Amino acid sequence: MKLADLVRVLDDIAPPHFAFGFDHIGLQCGSLESDIKTAAVTLDHSLFAVQFCQNQGCDLLVVHHPLIWDPITELTPENPTVLPAYELAKSGIACFATHTNWDCAQGGVNDALCSQLGLINCIPFGPSQPELLTLLQTYVPNGHEETLINKLKSQGFSTHCGYQDCVYQSAGLGRYLPTSEAKPFLGEVGQYASTPEVKLEWLMPNRLVSRAKAMLQEAHPYEVPLFIEAQAGSRPAAHIGRVGHLTAPMTLKDFKTHVDNKLDTSALVWGDPARLISKVALIGGSSGSDWRSAIEEGVDIFVTGEIPQNEAVDAVSAGFSVMAAGHYATEQPGMAAMKNLLDHRVPEISWKLIEPPPGFGGRPL
Ligand SMILES: [Zn+2]
Repeated sequence: MKLADLVRVLDDIAPPHFAFGFDHIGLQCGSLESDIKTAAVTLDHSLFAVQFCQNQGCDLLVVHHPLIWDPITELTPENPTVLPAYELAKSGIACFATHTNWDCAQGGVNDALCSQLGLINCIPFGPSQPELLTLLQTYVPNGHEETLINKLKSQGFSTHCGYQDCVYQSAGLGRYLPTSEAKPFLGEVGQYASTPEVKLEWLMPNRLVSRAKAMLQEAHPYEVPLFIEAQAGSRPAAHIGRVGHLTAPMTLKDFKTHVDNKLDTSALVWGDPARLISKVALIGGSSGSDWRSAIEEGVDIFVTGEIPQNEAVDAVSAGFSVMAAGHYATEQPGMAAMKNLLDHRVPEISWKLIEPPPGFGGRPL
């Protein structure tokens, strides 16, 4: 399967517009034209994960934590931060990141964590970020519209909430006088021209506009294409965390044992060991300060991967309980869920889940 076609499925599973503004998701290495036969899913782009892909002949690595975050100023094997990217590029293995969009998505990291902990009646909770949209417009002479439409279609730029290849098209007349400085595609220098044109309009996230304009510019027949950008509201936000209920209340001490067993971890817990836990708020990964919004949900505890000491102290001072169950332990179930989903949705690709041995590849002992 072409990676471009697989990306449509990945974007459906983890909608890009759910991603937070600071995030770096999507294709980070490789070509959309490449053929994918074998692919791996991993939490981290560790050297362990990269070597796994090299040994298993994978064409693609789907990561949760983005391969490239800060701008890269060198791509050398001596720098451990960029070594995985260096190795992937060298081996011709593509890399695609689904991060906060997979945290928020239905069936994603936090739904998988709820399910692993046996929570029921789970509802969204916590931070969210609406995505700002732009209406991008251009004008092309009749007969050239399909070239431009196909250009954005091939990249999946015209997809909205379950509808793909969305574009608005209307007919009009372009009138202009080419001067001696112009090299008109249609018309003659010094003569008024009236050209039947098509106006094309696409609604897209702000983050795609500059790439879309560059692609349209390349395909546009006019010497000086006109692009108009208008702000067009935002898409509804998706919340990153979840609030759910245990099937029966248990003490905080017993809840720690429950989480340790379910996530194969050793959680750090702050709070009264005898406190009864029934309603739980959670956000996998590193969300130590979000206990403050969890309190407002009337829950008994906030569970995340990592909590700074000062946040734990403040939470207990507020009479609350918090748990740091480990970054790997709280997010790996989400990657297993993604692998299972991709097995089902794209059976023609051989999918592998990377589970590093304890102590390696980002998994603690
Ligand atoms: Zn994470």
